[in-house]
Amino acid sequence: MQSSPTFFETGALIGVLTTQPLDRVLDYRAPEGGCFVGAFVEVPLGPRKVLGVVWGPGQGNWDISKVRSVIRTLDAPPMREELQAFLTKAGDYTLTPMSAMLRLATRAPGLGDPPSMRKIYRLGDGRPERETDARRRVLAALEELGGLSLTLGELAEAAGVTQSVIKGLVKLGCVREEESPRDTAFPYLDPDLPSKDLAEDQAQAAAHLRDKVKSGNYGTTLLHGVTGSGKTEVYLEAVAECLRQGRQALVLLPEIALTAEFLTRVQERFGAKPAEWHSGVTMTERRRVWKMIGEGSAQMVIGARSALFLPFQQLGLIVVDEEHDTSYKQEEGVLYNARDMAVLRASLNGAQVVLASATPSLETWANAEAGKYEKLTLKSRFGESVMPEMRALDMRGEKLPSDRWISEQLRVAVQMRVDAGEQALLFLNRRGYAPITICRACGHQVGCEHCDARMVEHRFLKRLICHQCGESAPIPDKCPSCEAEGRMAPVGPGVERLAEEAEKLFPDARISVLSSDMYGSARALKAEIEGIANGGADIIIGTQLVAKGHNFPLLTLVGVIDADLGLQGSDLRAAERTFQLMRQVAGRAGRAVKPGIALLQSYQPEHPVIRAILNGDEENFWQAEADERRAAGMPPFGRMAAIILSSTDVQEVFDLGNALARNDAALRRIGAQVFGPAPAPIARVRGRHRVRLLVKADKGAPLQAALADWVRPYKLKGDLRLAIDIDPQSF
Ligand code: ADP
Ligand code: ZN
Repeated sequence: MQSSPTFFETGALIGVLTTQPLDRVLDYRAPEGGCFVGAFVEVPLGPRKVLGVVWGPGQGNWDISKVRSVIRTLDAPPMREELQAFLTKAGDYTLTPMSAMLRLATRAPGLGDPPSMRKIYRLGDGRPERETDARRRVLAALEELGGLSLTLGELAEAAGVTQSVIKGLVKLGCVREEESPRDTAFPYLDPDLPSKDLAEDQAQAAAHLRDKVKSGNYGTTLLHGVTGSGKTEVYLEAVAECLRQGRQALVLLPEIALTAEFLTRVQERFGAKPAEWHSGVTMTERRRVWKMIGEGSAQMVIGARSALFLPFQQLGLIVVDEEHDTSYKQEEGVLYNARDMAVLRASLNGAQVVLASATPSLETWANAEAGKYEKLTLKSRFGESVMPEMRALDMRGEKLPSDRWISEQLRVAVQMRVDAGEQALLFLNRRGYAPITICRACGHQVGCEHCDARMVEHRFLKRLICHQCGESAPIPDKCPSCEAEGRMAPVGPGVERLAEEAEKLFPDARISVLSSDMYGSARALKAEIEGIANGGADIIIGTQLVAKGHNFPLLTLVGVIDADLGLQGSDLRAAERTFQLMRQVAGRAGRAVKPGIALLQSYQPEHPVIRAILNGDEENFWQAEADERRAAGMPPFGRMAAIILSSTDVQEVFDLGNALARNDAALRRIGAQVFGPAPAPIARVRGRHRVRLLVKADKGAPLQAALADWVRPYKLKGDLRLAIDIDPQSF
């Protein structure tokens, strides 16, 4: 499968792609000693030195006498041709300039710097004449641990001595000081350690995935099963097979807060922790991870979507856990969906993809129906736990005061769990204290100065915060509009306000609020989650954050405060999202031995989506959703793209939007339609006005080429920006 990479002799004409926004491959001459295709190089560009990758032979479309030489080849394994191909195809698909794609693949601190060194200590020759107890301890520690490359501090700690004792032994020659690269290898993950005893359907699914990994070919499998059915155990067996084949495995998780639990499970299965790649990883560690992956010595990586761009030597498997999760869509910079890019990357690497979910996206569901993906189903929860019973609480009969949201029925149910020493979760997908702050005297609502969004009161932080741009302000005691004193009032519930209500209703219960903004760091949030899992709370009040994969064994009741919340608005994906979110949240209950129940407060319990959530008939739900989308020619049965125009000048965005809408010949040629311009779902963010056009085309239409032709004639003046979002999340 592996052909040897092309080599360019000294002085040969080569094409180099740089990370500078120039958007074409530039001609250079190969450096002294030649270079391989894919080599990371430093090249002159005008007066500067810039980073680039040898992309292929030179184009020769430049005055040959002016072609300059590569300055130096960097000390990093050359980029493999599969990764080059991946960047090219991903760039074509998302209509992203190649320089921007290359930047995604070169986010390695200190790339090409000489390896940074540190001093380590080993056993030297002979024993000291005067053997003190401290000296003996140092030598004993080295005899025992000498293979581990200990630093001065580590050795001193292991031996229980001061560092000067060690330095004394170095002078005597009894201990040797050596220079060693700081970037040390990851501990070995052993795929042959015993796995858990798999249940029948788990074992079948695992065997099937093992065979697919062994084949060495590309393939995508949807691993479908309710939360707690043991999908993770199953795909870890696919990882094991991949490691046995000597290939590398990548597991993508939607949320960093989930990694701690996952690392522990990997350690239990393989005897050591894998490499990590996400925003919580330090620069030094990133450098080490990037390098070890490039050298092929990191066997397994768990990471966020950006891990797709790492320089794997032999990628054999990509797992996308909770594949339906919207956070896989990158919404800033390069707009890509990590799930789709995982499939692309795997197809270029002859690797397997496992998409795991309890509530797959409609896209994935449709691909499985069409036979493009294989589908494996785990039918029941692992062991004795069963999916919770789900019921709607009809809120129309409830006469709740305007500052209460927990119905009497829900209150009684929660109290029962608390009394029984079990846990209850109250779910509300709204951060902060109240979504609206209004003046009772004049009706003024406090909005963000820079965005078309309300300022949300966060009592915990004692600020009003804009959830779009993060701008914050003190909570006003005077109306900013009519200046009336003491009339500003919160309207509607956020999790903080719900917690207040719960404190009143359940004065003896220990209440924990899980909302991303209430913890200073990922570590603090992780500690809170662990505390809850170990029984440190009776009632959990949470946002979307709790829906994602956490395991709370004592949790037996989930109360959804407002099951209708996601159904409002005009987004065609509203039904899909609500269905997924409600099923995920409900799935938090009853994960251990005790059965769970989920109660959904709703003002429209007959709504077809609410009904589908309650009866859990997924096949029917997806079939109905699919029929509707198919009839409307909407994704995944048709193609969509969103064009977002933004500027500080509202006139300019609309002028450009209208011009685009009028001159749509390039789109009509492929039978595509354009809708808009209309204000984007959030019409102003950070002081920039945003206008959206939606383009809809048939499934097979060459959409990207048409879009490129369509927008090409326009020069963007001033601070006007145009972004193209292929397969937008909302439409
Ligand atoms: P999912 O990924 O489908 O949500 P998990 O793999 O996390 O499910 O499994 C749910 C729980 O059941 C976990 O605590 C897991 O350790 C346990 N479990 C799953 N399969 C087995 C097994 N074969 N033997 C023992 N425990 C298992
Ligand atoms: Zn704002």
